[in-house]
Amino acid sequence: MNDSFCCEDMRYHATNHCPVHDSPYECPDWLIVRDDEGDFGIVIHDGGTSCVEIRYCPWCGTRLTAENRT
Ligand SMILES: [Zn+2]
Ligand SMILES: [Zn+2]
Repeated sequence: MNDSFCCEDMRYHATNHCPVHDSPYECPDWLIVRDDEGDFGIVIHDGGTSCVEIRYCPWCGTRLTAENRT
């Protein structure tokens, strides 16, 4: 897994910058998660561990899906 991000907004929101929470599902300020395949998702803060996969960056619009897939 590389750590390249399309923009600073994505880098910020996909990186753990919270001193309190270890899990993005517990932190209301942590919006973006990445799964093992490198797919991005938006965390659904409903108390569970759900997220919605996103294919484009919500901030800059860059396509996020891995390039080796169509
Ligand atoms: Zn937090
Ligand atoms: Zn972006």
